[in-house]
Amino acid sequence: MNKIVIAIDGFSSTGKSTVAKQLARDLGYVYVDTGAMYRAVTLYAMQNNFINKDHFKVNDFVMELHNITINFKYNKDLEFSEVYLNNSNVEKEIRTLEVSSFVSQVAAIPEVRYQLVKQQQKMGEEKGIVMDGRDIGTVVFPDAELKIFMTASADTRAKRRFDELIGRGDDVNYEDVLRNVQERDYIDSNRADSPLVKAEDAVEIDNSHLTLEEQFIKVKQLVTMTLEDRE
Ligand code: C5P
Repeated sequence: MNKIVIAIDGFSSTGKSTVAKQLARDLGYVYVDTGAMYRAVTLYAMQNNFINKDHFKVNDFVMELHNITINFKYNKDLEFSEVYLNNSNVEKEIRTLEVSSFVSQVAAIPEVRYQLVKQQQKMGEEKGIVMDGRDIGTVVFPDAELKIFMTASADTRAKRRFDELIGRGDDVNYEDVLRNVQERDYIDSNRADSPLVKAEDAVEIDNSHLTLEEQFIKVKQLVTMTLEDRE
């Protein structure tokens, strides 16, 4: 059976990566978390003092981009690929609220997007891929066979994110998490280069009131229909 490209876009903390991982495992496809790539680039900017609360040295940072390498390596135990920044595993470090607070500024830089999109398109050349992000169905793979756009209320998403951060032992408060979710939504949707918008041909799923299982069943039906249409 022909393999397809599945693009999953949507707002922060809509559970895109959970459903994308489930699908990739079920179909034997590769899963790529493009948010992790933007987060890893942001971590580099933070570690090298290009960005902090007081400044963002955009031009200096752009000159430095050629020194940043982002890769994924499959972790058999976790059953997904972890992200590496210049050969160091940064999977855990990139998920902090601090990285979240800077990532949308870094992701709005056209030079950053250009580099990462090129790499993402290469990963999808052979198809058989589930990729999640903000611009996958609109910019990275405008011809993807299946496009899904996930939404949920900001409050639902902030609660999920808060539980996740507390679960891994981070010291955060709910108001900060909610503010971060709303700020990222705003910056991601309003940036000039590749803003977050639903592709015209994407299927929208609001999962505010869906269990993970119900959501997976829905998405799996869409995949089955897409594959049948192609036969
Ligand atoms: O998916 P996640 O929430 O980890 O993404 C972190 C940030 O990376 C987003 O808020 C957005 O600013 C940026 N991003 C992007 N384009 C993508 C994926 C993520 O701009 N394809």
